[in-house]
Amino acid sequence: LMQLFRPLDMLGWVYREIKQGLIDMEAMFGLLDTEAEIADRPGALPLAVNAGEVRFDGVDFGYDPERQILHGVSFAIPAGNTVAVVGESGAGKSTLSRILYRFYDIQAGRVTIDGQDIRTVTQASVRAAIGIVPQDTVLFNDTIGYNIGYGRAGATQAEIEAAARRAQIHDFIVSLPQGYDTVVGERGLKLSGGEKQRVAIARTILKDPPILILDEATSALDSRTESAIQDALSDVSARRTTLVIAHRLSTIVDADEILVMDKGRIAERGRHEDLLAKGGLYAEMWTRQQDTEDETAEAAE
Ligand code: ATP
Repeated sequence: LMQLFRPLDMLGWVYREIKQGLIDMEAMFGLLDTEAEIADRPGALPLAVNAGEVRFDGVDFGYDPERQILHGVSFAIPAGNTVAVVGESGAGKSTLSRILYRFYDIQAGRVTIDGQDIRTVTQASVRAAIGIVPQDTVLFNDTIGYNIGYGRAGATQAEIEAAARRAQIHDFIVSLPQGYDTVVGERGLKLSGGEKQRVAIARTILKDPPILILDEATSALDSRTESAIQDALSDVSARRTTLVIAHRLSTIVDADEILVMDKGRIAERGRHEDLLAKGGLYAEMWTRQQDTEDETAEAAE
């Protein structure tokens, strides 16, 4: 009888892998209604990743031809650096990350990783080089250990725990009655937004990609969770090429470069202090956020 079940187990595993990949991507990119339109070029080779330098050169893009979203966007993230993108809702921040992950092809310009145009290499190799910590992680109905181990096939329990420690979620997990075997997700234990994000960070630590996309959560977290997450994120982004889609400016004051997007164009760029001194859009956003934070703090008192 066991022999009959084993192939079924295997099928279940394959199904779960595929299903989870789709869930992650759909959740990350809100692609539930769109089909993948991107195909590998015949004979495309895998990306040869060296240090992981990312470059956008004169990128024009629209989801449909009638409505252009990005206009001549150029920036570079030297290997190991962090570039943060800020701007009003709808300015095109998440669109940059979808293009880097090659969910869409651009209409003009070039996007390269270590000098290779991402249209000329296989999609799978591009995606293997990039780790994503999305705003809202969709968990799989399985154990929390499985949800972390999913970051790398064949990860051992010791590796899973080491990743969980670095993501500041280990103590929480061992406090659960079933520890790493606790079932989470829709039919199991519901995790908070901050806990789910740390699971995503642990997964990414296991995947160990040279390039990272962090899509910061917009939802407010309590300050202890917030600082645990910030610590975990700084740990995971250290030495990796990182693109941060930021909503709270206080988290990106140390970024190597900040891009301020306005209606699909880079309106300002520079380091935090330079942008403040400039007294433009960024300085205005900063003042506005400080005021809101003060009000929130007062309301909490
Ligand atoms: P937010 O801070 O609200 O997440 P954002 O700066 O990340 O905003 P994007 O998600 O990049 O903004 O969206 C930029 C523009 O592209 C918006 O006007 C949006 O309506 C449009 N857009 C986003 N996704 C799609 C899509 N799948 N199809 C068509 N238009 C889209």
